[in-house]
Amino acid sequence: MVRILMIVIMETPATGEQVLEVEAWIRKAGLEVHRSDGADRTILGLVGDISRIDKSRISMMPGVREIIKVSSPYKLASREFRQEDTVVYAGDVPIGGKEVILIAGPCAVESEAQIDSAASFVASAGARILRGGAYKPRTSPYSFQGLGEEGLRLLRNAADTYNLSVVTEVMSPDQVEIVAKHADVLQVGARNMQNFNLLTLLGETNKPVLLKRGPSATIEDMLMSAEYVLSAGNPNVILCERGIRTFETATRNTLDLSAVPVIEHLSHLPVIVDPSHGVGKREYVAPMARAAVAVGADGVMVEVHPEPCEALCDGSQSLTFDQFATLANRCRIIGTTLGRKVAKGASQ
Ligand code: PEP
Ligand code: MN
Repeated sequence: MVRILMIVIMETPATGEQVLEVEAWIRKAGLEVHRSDGADRTILGLVGDISRIDKSRISMMPGVREIIKVSSPYKLASREFRQEDTVVYAGDVPIGGKEVILIAGPCAVESEAQIDSAASFVASAGARILRGGAYKPRTSPYSFQGLGEEGLRLLRNAADTYNLSVVTEVMSPDQVEIVAKHADVLQVGARNMQNFNLLTLLGETNKPVLLKRGPSATIEDMLMSAEYVLSAGNPNVILCERGIRTFETATRNTLDLSAVPVIEHLSHLPVIVDPSHGVGKREYVAPMARAAVAVGADGVMVEVHPEPCEALCDGSQSLTFDQFATLANRCRIIGTTLGRKVAKGASQ
């Protein structure tokens, strides 16, 4: 069985009826259709066994401009399928538009006081989204594994109090329902980037998915993982560069900032950068966050803790409040210089 190999590009303009007729014809031939309405034209992605359809028959239909074979192994994630940048809404926060979104919070939710204090500060400094893990993928089974459902509730309450959206990790298929109940964005961690059952299940939800790059994944691997979510029916995927394993040991990972322009070229999906996991040491986080904004990232996600030295998880890469405020100000200056926007917090 051959899966999506073709896209049908409609004329500019094609009428709504013409598009519907082509869609109906393709469905009747036993294929699924993914429709992308761009600013100036509509593109239809064909999913299924394309050997069953007569290409010349479609090309003769009114309103059809061109039928092309998509050369990349990912289809719905490709720029060929959609020319315009996709904007994904995390609650009411748009990711992938003009604004560069700051996402901040602790590695893990530890207590009500900790998450409330972090949320209050990051909101006042310009963050729009609160992060914090309730289910933590830890290298050691003896490390703190997260507060689970109670952590999700604390995270949601803190975010609501300070008008922030919520992103948090979902580690396994059985957690999808409960995490989706509390979060605006479901994070797939680096270690799970190729958990295909999880990706397919997330594709069946209507919540945006933040897909982190696996430590040994190529950019193409990451786009193929995004394709799992998209092809299962969920168009809202945000990609996240968070560092890859290399021979370098001075930093926790090697933050591959070249992934940002490469992904921008290959895909219409928004891309953000997580310099905290990328470098693993708090003193290097701010310079790489600034570089991420300079290179064109749609958002920056950093770990911030009221008392980094007391953190139960990733304390050495967590920023203090003051460090986050400085980072936010500098990212704002760089973003503004490049014609983008970075929200001001109440304290700015
Ligand atoms: C995290 O964001 O806390 C996390 C575990 O990240 P990653 O999956 O990139 O290691
Ligand atoms: Mn972490």
